[in-house]
Amino acid sequence: MAQPAAVSTPTTPAVEIPTISVRQVLPWLAFFGLVALLAMYFVGAEQGATHLISGAGVHEWVHDGRHLLGFPCH
Ligand SMILES: [Zn+2]
Repeated sequence: MAQPAAVSTPTTPAVEIPTISVRQVLPWLAFFGLVALLAMYFVGAEQGATHLISGAGVHEWVHDGRHLLGFPCH
């Protein structure tokens, strides 16, 4: 009786997951957090008594975003 030939299974190369330390991510997290806060300010509070830029240009420019995010407007 003949032995069946050994079936070779395809080998896949080992996948190495890169490690990213908190020290590498922290500056990007701070940067994008600051940008997000700035965007949130301009969309949500840049009008009336709290405006930094005079005129209604910023308010009109972010007006649809203000309504989309549910900030009180008019
Ligand atoms: Zn509005």
